[in-house]
Amino acid sequence: MKKAAVEKTAVQKKAAAKKTAAKKTAVEKAVAEKPQPAGKSKSPAGKPESPAALVRRARRINRELAEVYPYAHPELDFENPFQLLVATVLSAQTTDLRVNQTTPTLFAKYPTPEDLAAANPEEVEEILRPCGFFRAKTKSVTGLSKGLVEQFGGEVPGRLEDLVKLPGVGRKTAFVVLGNAFGRPGITVDTHFQRLVRRWRWTGETEPDKIEAAVGALFPKSDWTDLSHHVIWHGRRMCHARKPACGACPIAPLCPAYGEGETDPEKARKLLKYEKGGFPGQRLKPPQAYLDAGGRPAPPLGAVSGT
Ligand code: SF4
Repeated sequence: MKKAAVEKTAVQKKAAAKKTAAKKTAVEKAVAEKPQPAGKSKSPAGKPESPAALVRRARRINRELAEVYPYAHPELDFENPFQLLVATVLSAQTTDLRVNQTTPTLFAKYPTPEDLAAANPEEVEEILRPCGFFRAKTKSVTGLSKGLVEQFGGEVPGRLEDLVKLPGVGRKTAFVVLGNAFGRPGITVDTHFQRLVRRWRWTGETEPDKIEAAVGALFPKSDWTDLSHHVIWHGRRMCHARKPACGACPIAPLCPAYGEGETDPEKARKLLKYEKGGFPGQRLKPPQAYLDAGGRPAPPLGAVSGT
């Protein structure tokens, strides 16, 4: 009886120790993953970094990325502000490639806001089906087309305060349109941008508006649009959410998160996507600079890419 009691105590002790260890690991993990508070950045070496040093490192990362992606551009195909606005709304929850494969049919049938505003929703739904959430997206693009016709004479406005009045258009979409169709500087805080700037400890903010303000303060306004392209391209090609290709990353010495992904150069190279991995890009009609650099256009819907 006594022996059994002793054994029970030993088992209980072991279980308690195991529980404490698991708790400790969870706590350690949470601390490691906790974003840096704003203004308390750390250098890649893990030492506290002054605001001036952070600005220098951030700008250096942007310069390096500009060399890696000199042809970085918006990855949605468009020929005018209306097409870019619609394509950006459609790109929620899907890839730009899928949108680019879908919009040629949409814009051939409904080339203007007036056409799309007056469209039969069921016909639009059928065209948008490959983009996913096609009923909601049909409502969004026909709704915003009606807004354009009724409030802005069928023209896409070139001001942030007007764009965000359109149904389904938030700041992120508005900045994409302003930056790429109107040449007005803007920071696009999408999922890639949020992940990368947190890995680089540029900011500890978690809300898109605050990230936009914090990162905007590190760069001159004239850099904002290209900076957004560089960061998003790096996120899509190398610094992936699950397995960043650290071993193939040209900014590894500047990155506090180096080692979060694959560090073996050979294995890391196999993780690269799009043109860095030897595959076509996302645009069916990419800019000439991209083609000149050896990039390949994406295939139309249903075609075999040949890669
Ligand atoms: S070193 Fe790794 S985590 Fe850092 S930017 Fe490169 S791929 Fe991303």
